[in-house]
Amino acid sequence: MHHFHYKNNEMYCEDVAIAEIAGQVGTPFYLYSHATLRQHFLAFEKAFEKAPHLVCFSAKSNSNQAVLKLFATLGGGLDIVSGGELFRGLKAGVPADKIVFSGVGKREDEIKYALESGILMFNVESFEELEQIDRCAARLDKKAPIALRVNPDVDPKTHPYISTGLKKNKFGLDKDAVVEAYKAANACVHVEVKGVSCHIGSQITQVEPFVDALRRIQELIAILEGLGICISCLDLGGGLGITYDQELPPHPSEYGKAVLATLGDSRVTLIFEPGRVIVGNAGILVTKVLYTKKGENKDFVIVDSAMNDLVRPSLYDAFHAIEPVVRNEKETIKADVVGPICESGDFLAKDRKIARCQSGDLLAAMSAGAYGFVMSSNYNSRPRVAEVMVKKNQFHVVRKRETYEDLIAGESVPPYLR
Ligand SMILES: *Cc1c(COP(=O)(O)O)cnc(C)c1O
Repeated sequence: MHHFHYKNNEMYCEDVAIAEIAGQVGTPFYLYSHATLRQHFLAFEKAFEKAPHLVCFSAKSNSNQAVLKLFATLGGGLDIVSGGELFRGLKAGVPADKIVFSGVGKREDEIKYALESGILMFNVESFEELEQIDRCAARLDKKAPIALRVNPDVDPKTHPYISTGLKKNKFGLDKDAVVEAYKAANACVHVEVKGVSCHIGSQITQVEPFVDALRRIQELIAILEGLGICISCLDLGGGLGITYDQELPPHPSEYGKAVLATLGDSRVTLIFEPGRVIVGNAGILVTKVLYTKKGENKDFVIVDSAMNDLVRPSLYDAFHAIEPVVRNEKETIKADVVGPICESGDFLAKDRKIARCQSGDLLAAMSAGAYGFVMSSNYNSRPRVAEVMVKKNQFHVVRKRETYEDLIAGESVPPYLR
């Protein structure tokens, strides 16, 4: 369920006509629905209400301050992968003790920042990282709370670029290494072993891979308990998929049921790191048609947003539905929807059947709330687009469009060139 819908053939976000926002803000822009964000977060919460749990929203999927603030207000925690995301989370009011720090390459200064902030735990991915965290904690005379990220070697049956829980991936520790790593962690004076974590991939559209991973983690927890290592947090990561096109992913409640059934009567605190499933369908990218042209086999619709604004189609061959903001054309065409960037890989959609459109029309790339704005860049010296949030009949620009001055703000010319 989301709150982008047509009223008299015109697309609305909640109670605001999208064309109205475009008129005031210009194009392109990302548009988020407050009600959808809230509803998706609460659906995930509800799925686990029967067990001790914490939903740590994955900041990397959408790190706008307004979005983070909303989830913080709803009681959520945060999953971060960098010092920058820690800064964003703390600024948005996420309590430090609800923040988990994932990622294979945490720098020393980032570890120090997280220790000083008092985060909930580090999801540690290697022996060397464990040693680094122990050293940093010793210097600060603290005990670093940690989980080790295990690679449960299950196939999430998703795109190879976004699967992370297979042996061949760079993430986590293999089953065989992990028990040794726990022994090592347990022997570190400045480390407190708290949990086990895993994250098997993204855009997963079945519950089985999660259940498989959970079973393997339960076996591991039993082994650790036999060694006197007590686990109080079980972090199952993120990865639940959404409908971009025809996919039929399980609803969070189904996922919840399967996880809780597998868990049995264990009272560990469950931690989740959902990103896409919360924000993906709560956001769209609104863009304007600049030109159309006829190719030999198909048409081209050239729009004012590009791969620097939404890179998923170029990067993963990802599908985003392209919908007209005003629906007044019955005739359809087969077209590539492309941006102005000087790369053949610059497209939002390929060989897509869409309503015939013309210069000046507004189009929406749907399901763009996750890994949209956060992956944008200034390639081709294109200012980053605005982000807008709608609540009921009001909209707010939650990140203003960059200017040309912003593009060069951090640059300087050395004296010998002046
Ligand atoms: C990317 C990532 C997530 C979020 O993944 P989604 O598919 O957006 O839910 C959670 N945890 C970790 C460690 C990640 O790398």
